[in-house]
Amino acid sequence: MLIVQKFGGSSLADIERLRRAAEICRQARCREHDVVLVVSAMGDTTDRLIDMAQRISPRPSRRELDALMSTGEQQSAALMAIMLESLGIKAQSLTGWQAGILTEDKQGGADIRMVAPGRIQAALSRGLVPVVAGFQGFSSQGEISTLGRGGSDTTAVALAAALEADSCRIYTDVDGIYTADPRLIGSAVKLERIDFRDMLSLARSGSQVLHSKSVELALANEMDIQLLPAFQEGKGSLVCRMKDSERPVYAGVTRSLERSELSLAGKGADASALSSMVILLSKAGIAVTDGRLSEGCAAVKVAPAQLEDAMVLVHDKMLLGLLTPTK
Ligand code: ASP
Ligand code: MG
Repeated sequence: MLIVQKFGGSSLADIERLRRAAEICRQARCREHDVVLVVSAMGDTTDRLIDMAQRISPRPSRRELDALMSTGEQQSAALMAIMLESLGIKAQSLTGWQAGILTEDKQGGADIRMVAPGRIQAALSRGLVPVVAGFQGFSSQGEISTLGRGGSDTTAVALAAALEADSCRIYTDVDGIYTADPRLIGSAVKLERIDFRDMLSLARSGSQVLHSKSVELALANEMDIQLLPAFQEGKGSLVCRMKDSERPVYAGVTRSLERSELSLAGKGADASALSSMVILLSKAGIAVTDGRLSEGCAAVKVAPAQLEDAMVLVHDKMLLGLLTPTK
């Protein structure tokens, strides 16, 4: 069985966590799985790199920013390979281009065009664990490109699809996908399973759990994503294809601080859901200044100071009652 495992930045924030992540890989190897690892930059490395560039110039060139940002993942890939070797597992770090991740000709936020995984397959056939630097690829012009903030998830799903992996596991610092951010809304419910389309609506409207392009790719390739807590017990959440009858009416409530907007996402997020939201909020004294609909998503704009209260109301009064319990 071939497994792609991806670790996010907070799960690799220091050497000790790197060791624990490597241990998870080792356990999978002990169960005789072939493993391809994808890593993000350690902790807040990417932010620090951008900050350094901006201290030199307010508008650094996108090309050099990509060259700079990509080094974060290259560091963690090499360190992870060193860590695996220290645990007695043969490993080989690979940059985006070494891993064959070809993107469109764009600097910053490029889409993956093709994956040529020959080198990864060669490493696997030699019994090595390929450790791929996430978030990066190369363009047909031979430039280093990056995939947009949070893009390592997309690297993982693209590789899992190209390698026809049996499982794509994304390890993170949250214990699953919730109907709302549980740090903001105490009544948020964890979803054991969520449909690709619902997850895509959540990711596009502001949920940070998975990069939205990773969910697009997962949907296009029918590649399930198992989201797992890196260092706690728990089954996490499975992003997969569900029958429409199994999908809840609303899968989640998200917010965009930038737009001061809250979104209700799910198959039932239609024009009548939008008007129910407006009525509910107006009755509670929260003025809605704008509303919009997109597929699987109804969004309203409210004053920034009322955004959280509005989320709680919509979540508790509209979503919770219609949430089919997941088994
Ligand atoms: N390191 C990149 C970021 O911070 C990519 C990622 O973590 O997925 O956005
Ligand atoms: Mg992420």
